[in-house]
Amino acid sequence: MHMKTSTIYNFNAGPAMLPVAVIQKAQEEFLDYQGTGMSIMEMSHRGSVFQNVLDTAESDLRELIGIPKDYSVVFCPGGATLQFSAVALNLLNAEETASYSLTGVWSVKAFKEAKKFANLVTNIFDGEKTSFRTIPDIKESDLHPASRFLYLTSNNTIYGTRYAKFPDVSIPIVADMTSELLSRQIDINRFGVIFAGAQKNIGPSGLTVLIVRNDLLREMRHPIPVLLDWKILAKNQSLYNTPPTYSIYIAGLVFSWLKELGGIAAIEKINEEKANKLYTYLDSSGFYEVPITQPYRSTMNVVFHLKNKDLEKNFVEESENFGLFGLQGHRDAGGMRASIYNAMPIEGVDQLIEFLKGFEKKWG
Ligand SMILES: *Cc1c(COP(=O)(O)O)cnc(C)c1O
Repeated sequence: MHMKTSTIYNFNAGPAMLPVAVIQKAQEEFLDYQGTGMSIMEMSHRGSVFQNVLDTAESDLRELIGIPKDYSVVFCPGGATLQFSAVALNLLNAEETASYSLTGVWSVKAFKEAKKFANLVTNIFDGEKTSFRTIPDIKESDLHPASRFLYLTSNNTIYGTRYAKFPDVSIPIVADMTSELLSRQIDINRFGVIFAGAQKNIGPSGLTVLIVRNDLLREMRHPIPVLLDWKILAKNQSLYNTPPTYSIYIAGLVFSWLKELGGIAAIEKINEEKANKLYTYLDSSGFYEVPITQPYRSTMNVVFHLKNKDLEKNFVEESENFGLFGLQGHRDAGGMRASIYNAMPIEGVDQLIEFLKGFEKKWG
């Protein structure tokens, strides 16, 4: 039975499409998880069946990314936004400082949130001056000298930019990788903390993956709400309270799908091929325009404009008739956006290019 057809492609930025194989597997196991006679959703989070799902998800994630033992992996409740507060609460006492690089809406939000709890965080890059179209080349000398960490958003979902290379600094990097974790190889040792809301590249919304180097977990001088306290979450291995069990199960299916595909190196190659194809076509056309230049372009979120803005409504309408959904850009960036996360097959990008060509032919 094929509930999903290959003629519909979902380019939503998030919640985004999941691999069809994952959704089908979840469907097969929905009523009766591996002969238990129960749905995984109905099971105790303390039981051995779910424990096994959780342990496998964690070990697969560790294997995929290459996470060493001195880092904790936590499946957190709440979206990535909740971690904006957690970063400040767990890493900064009142008089301590951090440097924030503001390359888009999400880092600006994280910065504002951190300021509520630690008023000494500093903004070391104001991307708004270039309409968030660039990424800084951050050097040690750019940091506030007392900084405990450098905060950045590795891929800017809304503007379609990313750090092609990560800064080489002596302090830990804290990275919001919501829209690109698992899409490219990273050297985890460069990072103190990585977090990612699941709905872009991992699984259902409301679940966030947190990876934190254990030496950064320390007693703070202020109280921390228990579910934001990384020490408590890590010590209890994601089971301090009832975690989002079904979401963790789906994330686990995504991890094993990725492993079968050949891991991050394999998907990174595919992702580069997809993005290159799309950018190459857009650059070659006089009808469309990519506002972001190399080397800042994201491989996950391809932002583009129609030179004739009056056609935007037609574009969205006709693309949907063609079976391509979610191409309307974010209201802050304008234009169009094709989110081509891990789950988007190359055929989806081919379909999009075919549509782009036809639309240009019709209206250009
Ligand atoms: C989507 C997104 C968020 C927000 O995630 P929520 O789960 O809605 O809180 C944060 N950061 C980045 C980079 C995102 O793409």
